[in-house]
Amino acid sequence: MDAGGAPLHSRFEGPKGTFDYLPPLADVRARVELTMLEQARLAGYQRMETPIFEETGLFARGVGQSTDVVQKEMYTFTDKGGRSVTLRPELTAGAVRALIEHGRLGGGLVKVAFSGPGFRYERPQAGRQRQFHQVDIEAIGSADPALDADVILVGHEVFRTLGIAVTLLLTSLGDAECRPVYRQRLLEFLRGLGDKLPSEVRARAEQNPLRVLDMKDPYVQELTADAPLMRDSLCKACREHDDTVRYLLGEAGVGWTEAPRLVRGLDYYMRTTFEWQAEALDAAQNALGGGGRYDGLSELVGGPPAPGVGWALGLDRTVLALERAGALPEAPPQLQALVLPLTPAAQGTAVKLVRDLRRAGVAADQPYADRTLRGHMKAAAKAGALAVVLLGEEELADGQASVRDMAARDQVRVPLDSVVPTVARIAATAGDLAPGGREGGASGRPGSAGPPGAGGAAVGIDPSDTDDQGAAP
Ligand code: AMP
Repeated sequence: MDAGGAPLHSRFEGPKGTFDYLPPLADVRARVELTMLEQARLAGYQRMETPIFEETGLFARGVGQSTDVVQKEMYTFTDKGGRSVTLRPELTAGAVRALIEHGRLGGGLVKVAFSGPGFRYERPQAGRQRQFHQVDIEAIGSADPALDADVILVGHEVFRTLGIAVTLLLTSLGDAECRPVYRQRLLEFLRGLGDKLPSEVRARAEQNPLRVLDMKDPYVQELTADAPLMRDSLCKACREHDDTVRYLLGEAGVGWTEAPRLVRGLDYYMRTTFEWQAEALDAAQNALGGGGRYDGLSELVGGPPAPGVGWALGLDRTVLALERAGALPEAPPQLQALVLPLTPAAQGTAVKLVRDLRRAGVAADQPYADRTLRGHMKAAAKAGALAVVLLGEEELADGQASVRDMAARDQVRVPLDSVVPTVARIAATAGDLAPGGREGGASGRPGSAGPPGAGGAAVGIDPSDTDDQGAAP
């Protein structure tokens, strides 16, 4: 047995509710993440990072003692120094804590973007994990409703850029003036239902009556169909704020669906509150992201007045939505040029060529495997290589290399110092034609890969003429 109680030599599995992203999906996921972060950058959000664990009290106070997240889902443990720490269940509380700590709040608008994991002890299922990844933006230091509209617009542009059909659910949760009054009205309505409500729902109502409204249970939904709604109880200031947000969203061409029962699971939201749902996913995992305004959060965790608004998008679910729609972006090219030293004497030249190709922005590598030439060519084709650089004895003797254009199926002998531009041109041509351009090139592109003065269509080594045995290194 080892220290963890597992029999020695038994295999380990990833912890329940976690995911291993393997190639090529991890690269695809990183592209989706970059798309999100790029929209944030275009809107003036600067990157920031905070630790993935914080003092437990930050979340208890910031996210809210009565939330499911704090009550049931936090990974909380005592560290070796006896402190209670928690793996962050969301990113906003840590963001606000850090900005307060470093004196960045209280002096105007701060716009920051994050990307990183969050942890919730949830029942794992498709799109619901115990470790998940969020991209998050926070705009703190302004109560202007135009900022709410702009924050939503940034998310809208993310989904538009990714080509995901989403519905924006939108509501207002009121503020410190009108919400307590509404909360009391709602609580009285729920108490009036008496025993008809299951006991755990009654307990939830006493703690946080708003959370009863967004319960998915059809029985509870039916019972509360006539419950008073926050939307009808907004104070004048909240009503005006809400009207302005909607007017501006309309001007920006962002559509929404009224969601008067939307609460979202985090207590800090007030006024504008929203969620994006993927049209192609089931209800259990269709919430791709959401957010809202959280004026008062800074003060709640010991900071200066700093009204803010933000959102978090779930990267894992967004990738799932793209996957289901068959619209995942392509993985970046992993190998564009394969350099083949066909004799031991060519190895030094090969390492330099690989270096120079990479410096020119071409993904280049050697095979590091013992194969026949035909085997190498097959492997190169399988890996999607656009060009193969062959370094045989004959080429070396002439200070040359043979560069094979895999799509055009032609090969030219060029001086060593022309290899990089020749390969770069092949890669650029394929890029121009992609996607599907490679096929087009293979069927009809004239064999013009050689640089001027490269000696025409010299064929140093034609792999199609080389049998497996003869080419074995
Ligand atoms: P929230 O922090 O609850 O506002 O969640 C924002 C987004 O993060 C959700 O819409 C999901 O896309 C994602 N998310 C939250 N919790 C999980 C989870 N347990 N597994 C996967 N994604 C999650």
